[in-house]
Amino acid sequence: MSAKDEVNITRGMQNYIDTNAEYLAKRQEYIEKTVKNWKFDTIAVHGLYSVTDALEDYQGAIIEPIFMSSSQAYRDSDEMAAALAYKIPTWCYSRIANPSTYYYEWTLALLEGYGFEGTTSCCSTSSGMAAIMTAVQPFLQVQNSVTEERNFVATAQCYGGTFQQFSVRLMQERGIECRWVKDATNLDEWAEKIDNNTRFLYGELPSNPQLGFFDIEKVADLAHSHNLPLICDSTVATPALLRPICHGADIVVQSVTKSLASSGFGICGAVIARKNLVTNIDDEQLKEDFSLSVKYLQNRDFGPNLHPVQAIMALNDMRTIRSKMDLMSRNTEKVAAYLDTHPKVESVDYLGLKNHPHHELASRYMWLVDAEHDDFYRKPVNRYGHLMSFCVKGGATATRKVFDNLERIWRATDLGRIKSVATIPAISTHQQQGEEGRSLAGIPANMIRLCVGGEHPDDIIADLEQALKRSG
Ligand SMILES: *Cc1c(COP(=O)(O)O)cnc(C)c1O
Repeated sequence: MSAKDEVNITRGMQNYIDTNAEYLAKRQEYIEKTVKNWKFDTIAVHGLYSVTDALEDYQGAIIEPIFMSSSQAYRDSDEMAAALAYKIPTWCYSRIANPSTYYYEWTLALLEGYGFEGTTSCCSTSSGMAAIMTAVQPFLQVQNSVTEERNFVATAQCYGGTFQQFSVRLMQERGIECRWVKDATNLDEWAEKIDNNTRFLYGELPSNPQLGFFDIEKVADLAHSHNLPLICDSTVATPALLRPICHGADIVVQSVTKSLASSGFGICGAVIARKNLVTNIDDEQLKEDFSLSVKYLQNRDFGPNLHPVQAIMALNDMRTIRSKMDLMSRNTEKVAAYLDTHPKVESVDYLGLKNHPHHELASRYMWLVDAEHDDFYRKPVNRYGHLMSFCVKGGATATRKVFDNLERIWRATDLGRIKSVATIPAISTHQQQGEEGRSLAGIPANMIRLCVGGEHPDDIIADLEQALKRSG
C-alpha cells in the first residue's frame, strides 16, 4: 500500500524500508507455509499472533496485546517519513491502524478466506453499519462529472439499518439510486436492474430477519459479466457456516457485533475483500487490495475506526466460533421444530426446516466448516445458524402478549448472542422504515424474531411454552 502522492525516498528512509522488507517477507512465509495449512479452528484460536511475536515484541504475553495508545513514536525523521508514506509497516495513529486491531483484522481475513484459492484482507470498522458504508462508498465516487447518474442494486430483504443507509442517506440525501430486488432468487430481476450507471450489486444472506437467500455463484457471475463487484452481508451465517468469497463474491461485510462476538460486549464490524476484485471504477490500488486501500486512505479521512479493547474482546469470542455456531444451530433446529407444530403459531421461518422455501438453496451453501475433519461428524454437515422467526396467530396484540410473557428469553433488539434474545421487528429494528418499507421487506406485525443461544434448548422451549400458554 502506498499513499497517493509519491514521496522522495531518502537514504535513511531506504534503510528502514530494507529492514522492514525482511520482516514482511518472513511474515508472508509464515502465512503461506504455516497459517494457511491450519484448519479453521486453529486459525480462529491463533490468527496471526505467534509465539515469536509474543516473545520478541510483547514480553511473552499469550493473549494479543491491547494497545490503548493514540499514536506510535518513531526513532527519527526518516522512520517517520517512511511510515507516514506507508512504505513500512506502521500504525502511526490509532485512527489509521493499531496493533490490536491488526490481529483482529488478520483473523477475520483468514477465516472469511478459508478455502479460497486467492488472498483476502480485512479492514476493521467501529460497527457493522460503518462496514457497509466503508464497503459501498468507494464505488460511488464521481468518475466523470458531478451530475452523472449512479445506481446500485440491492436485496430488499435486508437489515433495517442497511435499508435506512441506502434509502435515506444515499438515495434521498445524495441522489444515488438504490434499485431494490424484491425476489433475490430471481436472477432476471437482478439482471434487468443493471445498466451502464450501476456501480455494484449488494446482497444480504441469510437476511435479517426474513432469512432471504440467493444463489451467490449466479449473482456473482452476473455482477462480473457487467464488470461489477458483488458485496455480501454475511453477518447471520458467519464464516463458520458460509464464506461468500469462496463462491465468487468480491467483498463481505460483517457486523462482528453479532454471532462472531456472541458475548455481547459491544459493537464492531469488518470489511473483508478478495485481492484483485472486479469493478468498473478506475483505481488500481482499490482493485488490487480493496481492504487496505479503504483502511489507509478512505477511512483515514472518514475515521470509523474500531477501538483496540473492542477488537480484542471480539477476537476472544471468535476463537470458538465454529463450535458455537454448531451448538446454537442445533438448538435452533430443535426450537423451530417445536414451534412449527404449535397450535398458536401461524408460521415458522427457519432455513433448517424442510418446508422453508429456501431450504434447498441454503443447503447448497450453508455447511459447518470442517465437519468432515471433525471426529464426531466425519462428513459434511449442513447448519443453518441461530436466527429464526415465527408469526403468532391473532395479530399484533396477541404477538405482543406472547412476547411480554417471555421470562428466560431476553426482549432486546439484538441477535447472535450466547443468550437467547427475541424482538418484534415491526416495532424495533424495522420500525424506522414505515409500513411501506416493511411490506417491501416482508415484515408482518405479528412476527417475532428469535435468536436461540447456547442454553439447553429444552429450557428455551419451556419458556416459549409458558409464554404461548399464558397469552390466552
Ligand atoms: C446488526 C446488523 C448490521 C449492523 O451492524 P452494527 O454492528 O449493529 O452496526 C448489519 N447487517 C446485519 C445483517 C445485522 O444484523
